[in-house]
Amino acid sequence: MPSETEPVEQRCTSRPNGSCQFAGILKVREHHGRFYCQAHAPLEASWRCRPEVLQALIDEGLKPDWKIDLTAVVFPIFENNHYQLGGTVTARHCTFEGGVSLIGANLDMSDSQCLGSLWLNCNGGKVIARRVHFFGDVTIRCGSVEGLDFSDSTADREFKLEHVVMATSGLKLDGMKLAAAPSIEFNIEAGSGMPQNWSFRRLSLRTSAYGKDAEGRFRTIRNRLHQNRDREHEGIFYQYEKRAKRMSLPLGQPSSWLPRSVSACYDWLAGYGQSYERAFGWFIGVQAVFVLLYSIMSGRFEWCGTFDSQVAAFTLAQVVKPFELLSARTPTGWPYVGVYMGGSGWWTIATTVDTLLSLTLVALFLLALRWRFRRD
Ligand SMILES: [Zn+2]
Repeated sequence: MPSETEPVEQRCTSRPNGSCQFAGILKVREHHGRFYCQAHAPLEASWRCRPEVLQALIDEGLKPDWKIDLTAVVFPIFENNHYQLGGTVTARHCTFEGGVSLIGANLDMSDSQCLGSLWLNCNGGKVIARRVHFFGDVTIRCGSVEGLDFSDSTADREFKLEHVVMATSGLKLDGMKLAAAPSIEFNIEAGSGMPQNWSFRRLSLRTSAYGKDAEGRFRTIRNRLHQNRDREHEGIFYQYEKRAKRMSLPLGQPSSWLPRSVSACYDWLAGYGQSYERAFGWFIGVQAVFVLLYSIMSGRFEWCGTFDSQVAAFTLAQVVKPFELLSARTPTGWPYVGVYMGGSGWWTIATTVDTLLSLTLVALFLLALRWRFRRD
């Protein structure tokens, strides 16, 4: 806020670098203590550019070389019309009112925010929308788009891609936060499936993304990934699909308790059979817990003590020589003597649980490894 002693500078400073690309073209006025030009003014400023005027400004700016810088422009809803952003358009740090529809070619709308629903038709070129916050439903029609990049964006409602074809190259949803299962419609006639270079790394799904219709949407994507022989991504979408299935089983019905529990265990332990990393992590964790338990049970545990290799060897023995303590003979020799106290059923129970858990995890690890690296 300019104080009374400072001279009031009537200059729009809306772009991140403090300048305005419309200086000298558009009128500047004050709104809540800040100065804006008519294109950068907030939506509630009554004197800001009307959509037709903004479109005319864009058309004029595009004329010389089909390039325009629309950084930080505020786009109000264009009733019954689309903003035509043909050419190479930089629309970073922009604000789009809910209900805006755009037709764009080489469009970069990174770091923008869409206050409500957005409809975007990509007509050739690439659309880059990194770190965009979509507060409403997003519908993107990939007419003849070359690439789409939604890395690190957030969609608070529906996220829909239509007419995705094989020829579309480079579709990135890395690090996207989604509140609903993504709906991706493929244009089968135009190509035989999904583009080969999809990327879904670090995708994060809120609990709501496993709601109604989610299972089918995940399966649609998984089936395409399967056709592409993209096993890594296929496994991840299989996991999403099964989670959606699990969450659709009603908790109120006793008949769904067992399927839900089994499904949840398989998810936690091995990500539905595709995550050998998870199975390996659990295996290490289980060994650590049992080393501690045997150490305490045998009275050898001490705070700040050194590594007890005999207890570690005893723990390992439960994996390589399963159910030793269940057999009728008393175990003799190292590592049993000195750790195993005998005379208590707890030793048998603990070692049996250890063996069962460890062997299950080894099996899950090997199966997941096999699944991930299988050729087909
Ligand atoms: Zn401005």
